Amino acid sequence: MKRIKIFAPATVANLSCGFDVLGCCLDTVGDEMIISITSEPGVRITKLEGADLPLETKKNVAGVAVEALLDNYSEKVGVDIEIFKKIKAGSGIGSSAASSAGAVWAVNHLLDNPFTNHKLIEFAMEGEKLASGNAHADNVAPALLGGFTLVRSYKPLDVIKLHTPQDLVMTVIHPQIEVKTSDSRSVIKQKVTLKQAIHQWGNVGGLISGLFTEDYDLIGRSLEDVIIEPMRSILIPEFQNVKNAAIARGALGCGISGSGPSIFSLCKGMEAANNVANAIEEVYAKTGLEFDIHVSKINSEGIKIIE
Ligand code: ADP
Repeated sequence: MKRIKIFAPATVANLSCGFDVLGCCLDTVGDEMIISITSEPGVRITKLEGADLPLETKKNVAGVAVEALLDNYSEKVGVDIEIFKKIKAGSGIGSSAASSAGAVWAVNHLLDNPFTNHKLIEFAMEGEKLASGNAHADNVAPALLGGFTLVRSYKPLDVIKLHTPQDLVMTVIHPQIEVKTSDSRSVIKQKVTLKQAIHQWGNVGGLISGLFTEDYDLIGRSLEDVIIEPMRSILIPEFQNVKNAAIARGALGCGISGSGPSIFSLCKGMEAANNVANAIEEVYAKTGLEFDIHVSKINSEGIKIIE
């Protein structure tokens, strides 16, 4: 039996201006998974610790994603999956994506890499479809490719790995309230004005240019979302106060992580990121709500083998 233990990273999707298209991969936050190839065909979730999630293959994103991979694989093999959840479901830092991307990456590795990481994105997206009803790639792409990624097109799928400036550090606060992706999608209006669109695509271009040229000021100026954030931020307690505190303490930018309730701040350097973490903590300590704060460098590698 071939077996591997992996670290399946958390990810921050959207990055303010890039709804459904931009994302980046974290280094210090993530799940662990043990994946085994067995001779008994079929996909089984044999262990799930740290969260109350379905063990049934077709109801667990990891199971669905691996089934999608095996449907495209020529030989009949079996897969056993053990999941050790550290990222809470519905946190907005890619809990479902970590499981689906981690599972397909590990199976592919154990089968001697018949698929490219870009192809694995498509299989992992089947897991995202199960989690939120929408096969989005903005979390699974950075988990699988590492660093910052852009989904240039969904049909056909065209994902591009962007450059990661070395000094970027992410501070994320996760208020312990559950906002389901499906709920936070329902508050979004389906129409945008041309004025909003112009504003937004200027920022997307600016952010990508800033990443490649390592222009931290440009990255900061571009971390602005005039379309989704005004609608979604109402679901997140203290959003504006957190944002104001983060920017005042030196964050380049601050916005909703994925569909929330997590809030991300992108900072230049570890010291700034820790200062921002302290500032945000002060804001949230007053609310009486439970919360976690993570400070993480950008993980330009993605999923990692740990055993
Ligand atoms: P996140 O933004 O943190 O990924 P989502 O709301 O998109 O959160 O996904 C969580 C949903 O996916 C929950 O409804 C959860 O029950 C479902 N789910 C199924 N399998 C898993 C899994 N292995 N890990 C996380 N969530 C899962």
